[in-house]
Amino acid sequence: MPANSINREKQILEYLHTNGSASIQQLAEAFGVSNMTIHRDLNKLVESGQIQKKHGGAVLTGHVGEEKVAVCAMCGKPVSQRTVFIVKFENGEELRACCAHCGLMLQSRTQNVWQTMTMDYLYGHMISAGQAYYVIGSQ
Ligand SMILES: [Zn+2]
Repeated sequence: MPANSINREKQILEYLHTNGSASIQQLAEAFGVSNMTIHRDLNKLVESGQIQKKHGGAVLTGHVGEEKVAVCAMCGKPVSQRTVFIVKFENGEELRACCAHCGLMLQSRTQNVWQTMTMDYLYGHMISAGQAYYVIGSQ
């Protein structure tokens, strides 16, 4: 049993490396064990500082925020990974803004924009800004 659970903990870490985050439900299904078992595995991984629990699931510690801190191309404030807004240009360059407000201003003032990306606040994934919903004034 200990060998088994250590093995599964490793696999959970690999799963998180691949997928970025996972819910307890997803992990239970992926490894064919109960939610309770995953829950215990996650607790151990949290205790050892390898993951963080989040919204009923798990993320790797340091998965969000690995990139070095950038400053907003619009207002010059440090860019938080949680609210980052990235404007990508057709030539492959990109500019970062601290928030959707700065990002949209930046977008409207620049040309040849290829894509805009922003951080999904709940899940920590990068998503296309065009598909995002913004909650104004929550910060
Ligand atoms: Zn800004």
